[in-house]
Amino acid sequence: MRIILLGPPGAGKGTQARRLVERHGIVQLSTGDMLRAAVAADTPVGRQAKDVMARGQLVPDDVVVAIVADRIEEPDCAHGFILDGFPRTVGQAEALERMLREKGLGLDVVIELQVDEAALIERVETRVAESGGAVRADDNAEALHERLEVYRTQTAPLVAYYREAGRLASIDGMRPVDEVSAAIDEAITASAARPAGGDRNLRESGHADRRSA
Ligand code: AMP
Repeated sequence: MRIILLGPPGAGKGTQARRLVERHGIVQLSTGDMLRAAVAADTPVGRQAKDVMARGQLVPDDVVVAIVADRIEEPDCAHGFILDGFPRTVGQAEALERMLREKGLGLDVVIELQVDEAALIERVETRVAESGGAVRADDNAEALHERLEVYRTQTAPLVAYYREAGRLASIDGMRPVDEVSAAIDEAITASAARPAGGDRNLRESGHADRRSA
């Protein structure tokens, strides 16, 4: 089972991904976690990503795509994975499609968590307050503002991209956590019931104009 969780920062992707890990026994691949680990270990990728992340901007596609390409080769990904925070641009989505196709694999479902922005800002402020201060370099009002803007301009186009491909399930992420989890499970069940070969192929072209947006 291969699932993408899509949604702005603070939408609950991490929480829902961890629940999916428990329920379905598949691994969570969070590019944010992988990049933070690279920063902490002071690797070349980490040094390249550190300031970009602190500002709330996106790490270049080629860097993130290479990390994901390596990670999905690991044996624990053989039974499936949940992508949390990837893809974040149409370029990344196209690269993912190519990677999976080369392995003869596809995506089961792309779950969009819909939330309202005022509530998101509150959620992130609560996260910071509950942790006794900013634990992440990008958990502050300025970086959050930038992350939301980046989401709107660079990541939100993926909603249309996956809708056109017939893979999108949009879920109200403002509901209580358990209800969101239940809605995600329903979407997964519905995707499993979908007739094989019934999907339209994801497009590899036609989005070039949005790539550098
Ligand atoms: P997250 O933990 O998913 O909110 O990611 C934290 C930060 O890591 C983001 O604000 C970006 O700077 C970077 N990042 C994570 N995933 C990606 C991605 N798929 N593409 C580019 N940058 C990413």
